[in-house]
Amino acid sequence: MTVPELLAPAGSLSIAEAAFDSGADAVYAGIGALNLRAHSPNFHLEDLDELLQIAHSRGKKIYAAFNTMPDETMLSDIRKTCEEIKSLRHNIDAFIVSDPGVIVTCREILPDMPLHLSTQTGTFNTASMQFWKQNGIERVVLPREMDLEEIRTVNGAKILDTEIFIHGAMCVSISGRCLLGAYMNGRHPNRGDCSQPCRLKYRITTLEELTVDSCSFDAEETEQGVYLLNSKDLCTIELLPEIVQSGVSSLKIEGRNKSVHYVASVVKVYREALDSYQKNSDTYKVLPVWREILDSVEHRPYTTGFLRGEYNLQEVFTSKATAPTRVIAVVKASLRDGVPVLDVKNSFTCQDTLEVLPVGRNAVPLRIQIDLITDLEGNVLHYAPSNRLVICQSSYKLRPGDMLRKRVE
Ligand code: SF4
Repeated sequence: MTVPELLAPAGSLSIAEAAFDSGADAVYAGIGALNLRAHSPNFHLEDLDELLQIAHSRGKKIYAAFNTMPDETMLSDIRKTCEEIKSLRHNIDAFIVSDPGVIVTCREILPDMPLHLSTQTGTFNTASMQFWKQNGIERVVLPREMDLEEIRTVNGAKILDTEIFIHGAMCVSISGRCLLGAYMNGRHPNRGDCSQPCRLKYRITTLEELTVDSCSFDAEETEQGVYLLNSKDLCTIELLPEIVQSGVSSLKIEGRNKSVHYVASVVKVYREALDSYQKNSDTYKVLPVWREILDSVEHRPYTTGFLRGEYNLQEVFTSKATAPTRVIAVVKASLRDGVPVLDVKNSFTCQDTLEVLPVGRNAVPLRIQIDLITDLEGNVLHYAPSNRLVICQSSYKLRPGDMLRKRVE
């Protein structure tokens, strides 16, 4: 049995490498400002070349998000970027696009570039898929607003490969078709500049009687206010068998702004789940440790979203994403005798009870005791200070890429 590709977000080279180590088959990344995450740590072209080299040497793929909706003034930048990409030493595996003008420009300058259609386009049906196929699209990222039955139906027509989101933040508008930010503070979601005003507190004020088709809204307001438009986060681990059977080609994790800890943790869980299902679909079950790990990363309350036809996705009491663990260090390197050098993100002491999230595909975090902390010269430290490199002795043999974390609850 084949299972779909596991596709992870990457805001940096180190996150891309962590995603591959954790079992991602491919990552997607932004190029400059020409994508829908203009404020993410996007890749410059030189970095992109390095990323492509690393990915291809490991048999992995890189998709570049090129899904801005440009106005006339941006067209010359689109052309320029296409020309620059043509000069890279390594080939991007596909562009993720949404605007027909961008598609035409890509086709002209990079005729062999595979094109994936962004979810932003809102392709819900087979007639639309036929249209896009005729215009050179190979894969479509289906809207998060489709349920599993609809996904099965469009996949059954075998028109295009399909990709769906399986985990991460949701947009309360239909696939990002939203002008809220542009209206409220001039930041345009369709040009990669969403300031997420849907996450703010709102209060309904009725200035006059509601008359529209006798609709009325009930809002329960607490002392925390009301987060009327704030969406829960998507988590589909329990639906994985149905998703695999629906015929999708690629499973996408949202989050190009997310940390290395988030990406590695989520990828590990879905990798293990896919491998387990592939090994024996009859005995497949969601392991408690998978849920524990998905709960350990920053998230809002989870939902299976529209896939199971749930339409009430808002979390009205808070929009804060919480996590019970915090990453405190990443193992940067091993010295000749195997002693690990840690890049400290948040300070810790030998008295702290820590967990290690091992690099590689094993998803289970392990308890670890740090016995000694020194600086690089070997001087003993009472604590590991933030933003410093330190050397540690511990009960567990740490390897480069391992992450240390602490419970914050
Ligand atoms: S403001 Fe909210 S609803 Fe609008 S595009 Fe941004 S995330 Fe989506």
